[in-house]
Amino acid sequence: VFVCFEGGEGGGKSTQSRLLREALAADGYEVLLTFEPGDTPVGAEMRRIVLSPETGHLDPRTEFLLYAADKAEHVASLVEPALARGEVVVMDRYVDSTLAYQGAGRALDAAELEDLARWATRDLRPHLTVVLDLEPSAGLGRFEGRDRIEGESLEFHQRVRQAFLDLAARDPEHYLVLDARAPIEEIATAISGRVAPLLAQ
Ligand code: C5P
Repeated sequence: VFVCFEGGEGGGKSTQSRLLREALAADGYEVLLTFEPGDTPVGAEMRRIVLSPETGHLDPRTEFLLYAADKAEHVASLVEPALARGEVVVMDRYVDSTLAYQGAGRALDAAELEDLARWATRDLRPHLTVVLDLEPSAGLGRFEGRDRIEGESLEFHQRVRQAFLDLAARDPEHYLVLDARAPIEEIATAISGRVAPLLAQ
């Protein structure tokens, strides 16, 4: 079973992915908790390049290809092997982040990016994507000074937010959209409720 967390900045993806991992582990499941970009040795280099202030402004296609390369390596070396061993994979960001940030955010063609991202990830799709939805001005305040987030406009983050919501609306069976302002425990309970039937299959 493969579960992803998506959404803009400050919505609690890492908190909720950790809580889900803990809940599943307590129930006896083997869990791989992982993230993009950067959770392989090569991916960490790419994360450093793409998110470092010294890199400056990358061409949007270059940026996309670096994220896509991170995904290819991540899926091949970490995610697919874990799924093959029967583990539950809980992932903080995946293809939707690329479609939202490099697609909607940087205004590259969404259909083209989706084809390339699907190719890079061997079309490995999550059973469930949890979108922790938050108005960007609320989320950004929590991260001032980190990475290069402060370099992007509010409009950029609004396009990103809308892209996540559009992706979810396109395929409701595989998405759970939650208001990130709800209490942490309430969100965790809603997520566990959607994950439980997937484990039973
Ligand atoms: O999830 P995390 O906060 O570690 O992501 C780091 C940053 O990388 C995000 O804030 C986002 O701005 C950026 N990002 C991106 N495109 C992606 C994934 C992440 O621009 N595909």
